[in-house]
Amino acid sequence: MRVHYKPWVRLLAHPTVIPNSMLDYATDFGFDEALNNPSSPISDLIARANTSPYEQSDVLSEFAGRMCYDSFTKGRAPDEYVKNVIDDRHGNVFIHPSFSFITAGISRGLSHELVRHSVGAGPSQRSQRFVKVKIVEGADGQIVYEGADCVLPPIIVHMADQYRRDGQEEKAKELIEDFVNDFQTSLKNYAKGEEKYTQYLKKYASDNTQISEMLTKRVREASRYVLPNACETRMVWSMNVRAAFNIYDRRGSYHADLEIRRLVVEFLNLMKPYAPYALNDFKSFVDIDGFPSISVPAVGI
Ligand SMILES: Cc1cc2nc3c(=O)[nH]c(=O)nc-3n(C[C@H](O)[C@H](O)[C@H](O)COP(=O)(O)OP(=O)(O)OC[C@H]3O[C@@H](n4cnc5c(N)ncnc54)[C@H](O)[C@@H]3O)c2cc1C
Repeated sequence: MRVHYKPWVRLLAHPTVIPNSMLDYATDFGFDEALNNPSSPISDLIARANTSPYEQSDVLSEFAGRMCYDSFTKGRAPDEYVKNVIDDRHGNVFIHPSFSFITAGISRGLSHELVRHSVGAGPSQRSQRFVKVKIVEGADGQIVYEGADCVLPPIIVHMADQYRRDGQEEKAKELIEDFVNDFQTSLKNYAKGEEKYTQYLKKYASDNTQISEMLTKRVREASRYVLPNACETRMVWSMNVRAAFNIYDRRGSYHADLEIRRLVVEFLNLMKPYAPYALNDFKSFVDIDGFPSISVPAVGI
């Protein structure tokens, strides 16, 4: 069983604009003059989509916005354009670019909060019914649990670090060990339940593979009821930029749970290079409690 001190996060996918499609649109719908001018917005969008893996999200939003008003011939610089769209609350241009993350080392408590964000965002989450908690006897006779890791609450990690800084190594160790022991008690109860329900359900298992497989699942799903919020989970999380604005506002705040706050700060840092203008005014900073938060633009979008 692994103990997680912080989330494991990687950016899995980011938007890629197809420059030729913008070119085709401009050619087929009468923007030749703008195309012939290398400093026009449409020429600039095509050039940026062609040359840089970054800014793709902003290029997509700007193209969508300019398409609405036929404004490919002249206009604001890209950063000003996107800022102006945000100030005008023309929010739908930000639903097109979408980002996906693969994350592990986060708690079921956190995932339960994240999935409340239902608009423009969503998860695929590792299953507790299909992925079995393996109970293995280690070489020293100790029982080892695999498949159900323990996530430490950030405040406990923080307290342990503080003890260490104060030279109280023993106290730091004890704090973490106490938490992990409590967690392991629930794993023992999981194992106990699994054994009990398996014995009981064996009576009903038949040679029919389908029924046997379903009963195994019933055992696992009943056993998992005693697992705590600290149980580690993994998910692919996707969200479009507009949804991200809302999530950074709600979950990057001082009032949010520390673990989800820490995760969304990571999301922001990974997304920002691909949407530098849209996310320009979303900034991570160390809040009054010493943990990172996200400051968001005053205008709600
Ligand atoms: C500090 C904090 C404490 C919280 N505590 C609790 C709690 O104790 N219990 C609890 O259940 N939840 C709690 N929540 C969750 C909260 O109520 C929201 O469900 C969550 O933040 C998702 O936000 P959202 O609705 O804006 O997101 P989304 O569901 O993604 O919605 C995005 C936006 O779409 C619009 N929208 C979405 N659904 C509708 C709708 N049905 N009708 C009209 N407009 C809609 C709204 O403008 C909304 O802001 C808490 C959230 C925070 C940040």
